Amino acid sequence: MAPLDAIARTSLLTAALRAKETERPDRLYEDPLAARLVGALGGDLLGQVADASGPRHTDPGQGDPGHDVPGQKVPSTVDFNAIRTRYFDDYLLTQVTDGGYPQVVMVAAGMDTRAYRLPWTRPVELFELDRPGVLEAKESALGDEPVRQRVTRRPIGVDLLGPDWTDALVTAGYRPEEPSLWLLEGLLYYLTDDEARQLLSRVADLAAPGSRIAADMVSATTLTAPAVAPLLEVFERQGCPWLSGHDEPEALFAEYGIEAEAVQPGEESAHYGRWPDPVHPRHVPDVERVFLVHGVRK
Ligand code: SAM
Repeated sequence: MAPLDAIARTSLLTAALRAKETERPDRLYEDPLAARLVGALGGDLLGQVADASGPRHTDPGQGDPGHDVPGQKVPSTVDFNAIRTRYFDDYLLTQVTDGGYPQVVMVAAGMDTRAYRLPWTRPVELFELDRPGVLEAKESALGDEPVRQRVTRRPIGVDLLGPDWTDALVTAGYRPEEPSLWLLEGLLYYLTDDEARQLLSRVADLAAPGSRIAADMVSATTLTAPAVAPLLEVFERQGCPWLSGHDEPEALFAEYGIEAEAVQPGEESAHYGRWPDPVHPRHVPDVERVFLVHGVRK
C-alpha cells in the first residue's frame, strides 16, 4: 500500500483522538473501531497535538521551572474533537430520522466509522469520499467488519480537488436529484480559500434543494492568533498547514445557496459539559474560533 501523504495522515490523528475519547469514563461517544485505525503514526501525531494544546508555558531555565503564560491558552483539540464528533453524530442521526435523507455523503471521510457504529433509523446509502490510499488502509484495518443495519456503504477513492470526483460519485449510485445529507468534517482549513470555495460550490451543485450540508471551519483570525500558534506549528511541521478560515460561515455558505447557521463549541447546543474555555460572543471581532456549521440547500 502506498504511504499516506501529510494531509491523508491527519485521518490517523482523528482516529487517535476518537480511540482516546472511547477510553474515557465520561466519553461523549463510543468509537470502538477507532483503535484499529490509528497506527503508530496516529499515536505520534496525537502526542504532538496534545503537547501543543492547553496552557502555554514559558521555557524552563536554570532554577526556573517555567510557568503558564496568562491569557495564552491553546484551544483544546482533544475537547473540540470530542464535541465535534458527538455534535455531528447527533446531527446526522436526527436529520436521517426526521428528514429521511436516503443519501449521506462523507466528504473526506478518512477513518470515520459512522457507517459501522451509528444506530441509523432508516435505510441510508453512505458514500465515503477520500484519497484511495486512505480508504484502502481503512478497509485493510477493518477487514470484514459489518456495517450497521440499514447502511449500504460506498467507498469512493478520489481527489476532491480534481475534476472527476463528482462523476465518480454519480457512477457509484449517487442521485443528484434526490435530497442528500453532506458532512465535510476536519477538511476545510487544510484547503486554500479558493479550494474550499470550489469544493463548496461543487457540493452545492450536487445537492438537490432541501439537502443539508454540515462542516466545521475556523475563523480567519485563527490562522494568525498567537494563542493558536503552537498547534498550527504542529500541522505546519507535518506538511499540512491550515490554510483558510472564515469569520462569517453563514455568509460564506449563503454564496453557494446554503442557508446555514454556525455554532461554537461551548455554546448551549455544543457544550456537552465538556468545553473548557470561554466562548467569544460572535460580535467580538478578530478572535480565534471554531465553528460547527450546518445548513439547507435552497
Ligand atoms: N472527516 C474525517 C473524520 O472526521 O474522521 C477525516 C478528517 S481528516 C482530519 C482529513 C481528511 O481529508 C483526510 O482523510 C484526507 O485524506 C482528506 N483529504 C484532504 N484533502 C483531500 C483531497 N484533495 N482529496 C481527498 N481527500 C482529501
